Parts: sequence; structure tokens; C-alpha cells
Amino acid sequence: MSSLFPALTGAPAERAALRFGDRSLTYGGLGAAAGALAARIGGAGRVAVWATPALETAVAVVAALEAGVAAVPLNPKSGEKELGHILSDCGASAVLAAPGDELPSSLADLDRIDVDVDVDVRATGPLAAAPASDEDPALVVYTSGTTGPPKGAVLPRRAVSHTLDALADAWQWTGEDVLVHGLPLFHVHGLVLGILGPLRRGGSVRHLGRFSTQGVARELDDGATMVFGVPTMYHRIAQALPDDPGLAQALGKARLLVSGSAALPVHDHERITAATGQRVVERYGMTETLMNTSVRADGEPRPGAVGVPLPGVELRLVEEDGTPIASYDGETVGEIQVRGPNLFTEYLNRPDATAAAFTGDGWFRTGDMAVRDPDGYVRIVGRKATDLIKSGGYKIGAGEIENALLEHAGVREAAVTGEPDADLGERIVAWIVPADPESPPTADELASHVAARLAPHKRPRKVHYLDALPRNDMGKIMKRALTHD
Ligand code: ATP
Ligand code: MG
Repeated sequence: MSSLFPALTGAPAERAALRFGDRSLTYGGLGAAAGALAARIGGAGRVAVWATPALETAVAVVAALEAGVAAVPLNPKSGEKELGHILSDCGASAVLAAPGDELPSSLADLDRIDVDVDVDVRATGPLAAAPASDEDPALVVYTSGTTGPPKGAVLPRRAVSHTLDALADAWQWTGEDVLVHGLPLFHVHGLVLGILGPLRRGGSVRHLGRFSTQGVARELDDGATMVFGVPTMYHRIAQALPDDPGLAQALGKARLLVSGSAALPVHDHERITAATGQRVVERYGMTETLMNTSVRADGEPRPGAVGVPLPGVELRLVEEDGTPIASYDGETVGEIQVRGPNLFTEYLNRPDATAAAFTGDGWFRTGDMAVRDPDGYVRIVGRKATDLIKSGGYKIGAGEIENALLEHAGVREAAVTGEPDADLGERIVAWIVPADPESPPTADELASHVAARLAPHKRPRKVHYLDALPRNDMGKIMKRALTHD
């Protein structure tokens, strides 16, 4: 395999590629900037990238991939401790950053290479990708750290190309698409899907810097076709819609709204559809696997479901003892295992964790629990470690209770956990951010609300009231922080 981005040399030079605020690059400019940088870093084993939401980050990662050098995106908002852990783990020799960026002292041991985005193509000549094999590492991406310290997933070039081409198939994604992007660039969602995806298709990206509903509306009004977001963004959209007819109109123009990284609450999805006529396409992936499933652009929308396995991806649900579940009945909960060209090769420096993550015949244990509808649609019920509550002989997924709680007008945000209980094994506990802190719904009211929608044994036995739920930079609820306080 040579270039992951044929459009760098194949697309017209003046075609728009990237825009961050008022700074932008055409395919010609991107090819020149990436080519100049690739020539400087070629031969390095692995480089870190100071992944601010800026043109330099995109140029740095593209240059590394064209040079056949693995890139390790760093979260600029990480604390010193986490950054120190990642730096000593990842083995990068240099850090690529924008000229003005101030880097913390923990990066002082690395060579600093400033990324120049303003390079004249006539000075550099056409970009020539270094020869690289499909199995060479493209990226080392650290997991979000939702359930423990982040682990570095080594992603080979074939995983990146596979996932992006499989999504193109599922989403009818082409070079004509213009993406509105408001996500950070140090995780798979924002970097692989949000930057590398459009560039592989020969399309373009407009990054908002910071997500805002006004920014999304402005870009859609100005011809953008797709939006990628995390559920907290769609929640903000759902909240804003009743007072913002312009937003509803703009969203109505989008070709595709996509949500991922965490479960999209059914209530938010339904509110968006009611106000805009649009469905939100949910897809399910992980740092380690890139994308596994998606609702297809031409597929039936189904709030609460993440669709079907992408082309080339094998997916199964297994019982606790590892036996595959044969029938899709929409009810039997099992752990999701996946196999396919989208998978990572290993956790960096963690042979123990890598070995534990795979079965003998190469299936990756995702740690996510799901059911499958009779037609194969996957519904995630939660994570095995934090979201599966064993209460009164039942296995109950936190997700459906959270969805039910969110349908209560007095509830703005909800998380559900289990805690030990002498009678039940575990009892269901709800953590609520009330819509009106002055008059929060009572625990009894919430218990009857859930019991009426789901089943009596799924009602919360205890309710905690909070001002906000603890979330990480992708808006994921940190359940450890709830239960360990
Ligand atoms: P860590 O592995 O460090 O604890 P993390 O699992 O949150 O953190 P990521 O790899 O960024 O790190 O996230 C993958 C996880 O996100 C999946 O295992 C799944 O639990 C969740 N997820 C992703 N997409 C969806 C979705 N559409 N619906 C529900 N959950 C999702
Ligand atoms: Mg994980």
C-alpha cells in the first residue's frame, strides 16, 4: 500500500480540503505542507502530535502517514500525570506542534518540530508517499480512559483504510461531502473519522474549533452536508431546537447526521427527528476496533440501535462462558466480540492486556454488552464492567433505565449504576441532574415512572441528585467517579 490519501495527488490542487476558523488549506496546499514535513520526519519510528483543533494537527498526521511514520496524537488538555504516562509508554522521538504552541515541561525530552502549513508546492514538488505495508502501524491512539488508565492501541494502516472505506459504503460518503466537525483530534472519532475520512474521500472538513449549535447551523446553511457528533452535542441540539427555528431548518438540509462514542439517548434522537425530520445515524466503534457497526444511510432508522456490522466486520454476542448466542431475539444479552480487518494489532507495551483481550481464534472481546433484534440490528445495553446490573436474578442494562429516566420532564441528565444489596445482589441506583434544581422529581416518582415504562424490577431503589454528571472530554459519563466517591 502506498498513500492512504489518493486525493492528495489526484484531486484538483485548488479543491478545498480543510478549514479551521478562518484558516484553510486546499488539496494542493495540504499536499505541499504534508510533503515538506514528511521529508523532515521520514525515518523516525514514531512521532507524537500535539493535537490541538488546528490545521497543524491535520497536516502533522497526514505527513506522518505519508512518511510511513506512526503518529501518536496527544490530548493537549491532559494533566501532567497522564501525559507523562503516555510519553514514557509511546516511545516517540519527536513532537510535532504548531509554531506558537506552548508545550508542557513533560515534553522537554522530545525533539520539537514545528509544523509549517504555508508551503509553496512549487518549492517542494509533488508529494511522494514512502512505501509502507498494510500491517505497518499508522497510529497509536490512547483509549478514552473511561474505565481505567488509557491504553495505547496500535492501529495498522489496513485498519484505517478498511474502516474509512466501510463507512463510505454504509454512509454513501463521497468527495462531494463537506463535514462539520466539532470534536477533539486526539481520539479515533475526531481524527480518523473526522479528518482522515474526508481526506481519503477527497472531500472537505470545516472544523468549528469549539462546538456550538450556531456553528453547526451556519455551516449547514453554507453548504456543509454531514455532521459528526457525540451524544452530548446532539443533546445540546435537542435542547436548543424548540427556541431556534433556524437551527431546525439548517439541520433539515443535512445529508447525514452521525452520532457515536457513547449511546445517543432515545429521547434526544426523537426530539431531533420531530423538529427537523432528520434521523441521526448511530455507529459503534472503539479505539481498538475503529468502527464495527452502523445504521446505513439507506437503512431503517431505529433510535437506540447502532445498526449492523460494517462490510468485512464479523460480530457475535457471547454468553458469559464464551458460547456464541445463536438467535437474534432482541432480548438475550451477550458480550460483543468482533473480528476483521478493522482491528488493532496490540496494546503498546501491554502483552498481558492484549492477550486477555482476544480469544484463541482471534475474536476481540469488546467488554460491551448488547442484544440483537431479529433482523440483526445491534442494541448496546452498556459496558460489562459498569453498566450491567445483576439484581434479583435479572441481568439489567443501565442504558434502558437511563433512557426511561430521560423521558421524565424533570430529568435533564441521568446515569444508572448498581450497588451491593443483601437481598437483591445489586440494587439499581440513579444519578440525576434535575431540569429544575428547585423542584427535582422525587425518588418515588422516578421509580414509578421507570416501572411503568420498563418493568417493576428495573425501577431505581435509590436516587442521588447532582449539578452535573462527571464526563470526560468526549462527553462520556465516568461511572467510576460516581461510584467511588
Ligand atoms: P477506556 O477503554 O480507556 O476505558 P473507552 O472505552 O471510553 O475508554 P474508547 O475506545 O474511546 O474508550 O470508547 C469505546 C467505547 O465507547 C465502546 O467500548 C463503547 O462502550 C462506547 N461506545 C462507542 N460508540 C457507542 C455507541 N454508538 N453507543 C454506545 N456506546 C458506544
Ligand atoms: Mg474501552
